[in-house]
Amino acid sequence: MDFKASDELQDLQYFGEYGGVNPSISDSSTYTFLSAKTMFDTFEGNTEGCYLYSRHSSPSNLYLGEALAALEGTETANVTASGMGAISAVILQLCNAGDHIVSSRTIYGGTYALMKNFLKKFNIGISFVDTTKLDQVAMAITPKTKMIYCESVSNPLLEVADIRALSKLATKHNTPLVVDNTFSPLSISPAKLGADIVIHSLTKFINGTSDCVAGAVCGTKDFCLGLKDVNNGAGMLLGSTLDSLRASSILKNMRTLHIRIKKHSENAMYLAKNFEKDGLRVVYPGLKSHMGHEVMKKQYNMEYGFGGLMTLDVGSLENANALMELMQKKHLGYLAVSLGFYKTLFSAPGTSTSSEIPMEEQLEMGLSNGLIRFSIGLDDHIHRTYIAMKGCLNELGIIYPQESGT
Ligand code: PLP
Repeated sequence: MDFKASDELQDLQYFGEYGGVNPSISDSSTYTFLSAKTMFDTFEGNTEGCYLYSRHSSPSNLYLGEALAALEGTETANVTASGMGAISAVILQLCNAGDHIVSSRTIYGGTYALMKNFLKKFNIGISFVDTTKLDQVAMAITPKTKMIYCESVSNPLLEVADIRALSKLATKHNTPLVVDNTFSPLSISPAKLGADIVIHSLTKFINGTSDCVAGAVCGTKDFCLGLKDVNNGAGMLLGSTLDSLRASSILKNMRTLHIRIKKHSENAMYLAKNFEKDGLRVVYPGLKSHMGHEVMKKQYNMEYGFGGLMTLDVGSLENANALMELMQKKHLGYLAVSLGFYKTLFSAPGTSTSSEIPMEEQLEMGLSNGLIRFSIGLDDHIHRTYIAMKGCLNELGIIYPQESGT
């Protein structure tokens, strides 16, 4: 039978220490052993089910990891203290000094800065390419390439990666394909399309309440155990461990992920369609006009839609700032970075989440300074939101009432 992430999640069943319907929260940094020999074996990585020290693993983190593995259809998953904690651990686990990465050029600004600036310390080379053009990816691969990296739907331009095609290329060159699926949990299942490692910033849709930062690495048992290795594991040694209390709260929030993603997608589709009719420059993977629409249709899990992210280009940074301030004043959402909240969040990526990317490179990749990134919220009455947003656009003269289609 076909893999269905929400069924896998639904079928998970946990029992707390006293039969509670939620697993008990592990409230310890260290664990006792009845024999010194078992402690030694655990250090050697030979005793399954024994806990050593919570930076290595904790029951609460393992429960959340189990749910994330079910979500992505991977053998297992490790949780981390942030999305960046997951990304940096994966890179440093796969690459040695002198190695090379082929990465999409449109990725989250923090990941871009890590790769472009910070990895210089380790003499790890990066080629940033347009990963929607397979020939560019193929040409950038060298014998030193240790990973191909992309986001399934990219931040902030919403480019859609053709994961099946990239995976074929990666396999041909014996290089792992690493996909950050933060923008499209449930909508896209990268591992099922051939990705070797799937990364998440849990901070966003998966947690959904904008109250913590967290991340995850989903992959094979071998790779994820390697990350925890006490001698060589980047997860264990760099120490980006998630706190157990947070792991348990994220696990509880994950139970409504399927409902939330459907609503985020439905609302984003409604606004995107209507703003496009109004003649605005809107980018949304669900629109036929989107460059990656056909690729998305070939690889998405239809019932979860095209995701909750949309961009609108309002021509200039002044327009973008004025619109965002006005929308916030009218309680339509928050002028804030991040995504996946119940309320709409908007920011101008050029001056915020992608500001690490130099201006000339931003322009080259199509990141104009009038671009606003919207993470569309769970509004119950989206037509009302649309009318109110259009009112803001009219008030600022960005569109005029007679230009609008509805
Ligand atoms: N990946 C993507 C696509 C992101 O948008 C972000 C943050 O915005 C990250 C990774 C980093 O995640 P975190 O802030 O949880 O470290």
